[in-house]
Amino acid sequence: MLTDNHGRKINYLRLAVTDRCNLRCFYCMPEEGLNWLSRAELMTYEEMLQTCTLLVKMGIDKIRITGGEPFVRKDIMQLLSSLSKLKGLNELTITTNGVLTAPLVPELKKLGVHSVNLSLDTLDANRFFSITKRDEFHKVMETLEQLLKYDVEVKINAVVMDGKNTQDIVPLVQLTKELPVSVRFIEEMPFNGDGHIYDGLKWDYVRILDEIKHEFPNMQKLTDGAYSTSYNYQIPGHKGSVGIIAAYSRTFCGTCNRIRVTPEGELKTCLYDAGVLNIKDLMRKGISNEDLQVKLIDAFTHRPKDGWEAEHNRNVNHPAHESMATIGG
Ligand code: SAM
Ligand code: SF4
Repeated sequence: MLTDNHGRKINYLRLAVTDRCNLRCFYCMPEEGLNWLSRAELMTYEEMLQTCTLLVKMGIDKIRITGGEPFVRKDIMQLLSSLSKLKGLNELTITTNGVLTAPLVPELKKLGVHSVNLSLDTLDANRFFSITKRDEFHKVMETLEQLLKYDVEVKINAVVMDGKNTQDIVPLVQLTKELPVSVRFIEEMPFNGDGHIYDGLKWDYVRILDEIKHEFPNMQKLTDGAYSTSYNYQIPGHKGSVGIIAAYSRTFCGTCNRIRVTPEGELKTCLYDAGVLNIKDLMRKGISNEDLQVKLIDAFTHRPKDGWEAEHNRNVNHPAHESMATIGG
């Protein structure tokens, strides 16, 4: 079992396979897009597979594929297929915006992907356009339908943004009445690719919870899983559940079991660090798996205690403003 210098188990890798995306969620990247990584800067699928194979041998048993939008990278199903065969990997999951996902759901199910996080900040097509700058709401809803049809567990991720979608909080909670989905409200973080200034958090987890409780006073607390990043609730009689993720308040760091690898191959041992080791560069210099393992363990045993410490440790020239599309969420 992998553990860090604070005694926390590490068993969960989030691998961002591209920084590119077919939406422009304003909390994630500017409308003109990012300075996209060139092909040479991206990890190849071979490098990703080598990294995952090593990490699974070391104790990672859950991998989430994310991005950017994972399904805009060519041949992504081939990578998923190879990962699905890794011995020792118990869970392969995906975070997607759902624009290209619907037709792929049957194949994902066949590969053993039993859970998908679908990003959906609003149930209103006009507000969807104003948040994402693309007219793709109906494709996302089609993906939701397909996932449910194929009995894939669905977690809906909704970032709560002052002045943008707080009127969607209650309708999104109402979705859980008839649908067996977990709707999770996420505090907005500063990772917007510098598209706009992050002027502080107006909707923290306490305010989001108050808003929901005001409408659903009988909502009940559920027991949270050991490594859960969300506080979970259910309204009696509803098929689904509700979660709140204090991503900016960082209340979950004490049990954090996750590491991240960015599309460039940068290892992050905390969401808020600036990257601690470039796996792709080491591989291209010919490092052996044994030596890479030593470097990885060194990184895991120098983990910051929490996201506040990680942010504090960042070089002042690199404030936490990069796009979430280069981190993976
Ligand atoms: N494109 C995919 C998607 O949107 O689901 C996967 C990548 S996206 C970066 C992963 C998650 O990060 C999404 O659920 C998105 O809502 C969330 N996210 C992006 N920027 C964020 C921000 N500034 N604050 C909070 N969550 C953010
Ligand atoms: Fe794209 Fe996901 Fe970022 Fe939205 S949150 S711009 S869908 S990467």
